[in-house]
Amino acid sequence: MISYENVTRRFGALAAVDRVSLAVPAGQFVALVGASGSGKSTLLGMANRLVEPDEGRVLVAGEDVRGQPVAALRRRIGYVFQSIGLFPHMNVAANVGIGPKVAGEPLPDGRIADLLDLVGLEPGHAGRMPDELSGGQRQRVAVARALAAGPELLLLDEAFGALDPVTRDALGKRVRALHERLGLTTVLVTHDMAEALLLADRVLVMEAGRIVADEPPGALLGGAGGPAAQALVAVPR
Ligand code: ATP
Ligand code: MG
Repeated sequence: MISYENVTRRFGALAAVDRVSLAVPAGQFVALVGASGSGKSTLLGMANRLVEPDEGRVLVAGEDVRGQPVAALRRRIGYVFQSIGLFPHMNVAANVGIGPKVAGEPLPDGRIADLLDLVGLEPGHAGRMPDELSGGQRQRVAVARALAAGPELLLLDEAFGALDPVTRDALGKRVRALHERLGLTTVLVTHDMAEALLLADRVLVMEAGRIVADEPPGALLGGAGGPAAQALVAVPR
């Protein structure tokens, strides 16, 4: 569903992503783990052309993303950003529906209610403003917004970062269930190896722009993946 072929992206002298090759088949749930600055967001952002590679190719559904208009690409890819939150002046329904609306195909109200239901929010939340929601509820709205255009690929960049562990677990499990139910291909960026091991079919570890481990959770727990991966497996939450 998404693949990277020998992809490099530099910022000045720094290779934020350094000759990465990776193929994520349709239906897989991948976690991308690594220290701050290891290149996770840069790698993810090349999928929907937030960031362009200097070398190599990124393919979504077998096509080079460079040949795909950004609007069409972003309909196929639901993206939950690390830092860009909800639009504060728009209510929940408007936030969820913004993508399709901008694309000239506004969602019917019933579809918005369905999306809220998918992420576990009551329909009564549709009219609330973002500052009237808890952090966990806001993250749910962000996931609903990412799903609004009916994407095949869901990319989550530290989507649950600032949440308490209980809310974080609940939302993680909800996303995994949505992945199954909607037949998505999902890449979840997280600092939290425990979350990665719990949710993903496959865990990638990034270090200084390179993927240094690529293992299923069971293998990582069994000691595979080398020192960088094992250092993360050993860190308590
Ligand atoms: P975090 O866990 O903190 O979000 P990350 O793994 O997502 O980190 P990236 O955001 O991909 O890391 O950044 C990788 C490296 O590239 C960092 O050293 C960062 O400073 C650098 N970098 C990223 N974006 C830019 C930019 N627009 N301009 C200059 N340097 C950048
Ligand atoms: Mg990041």
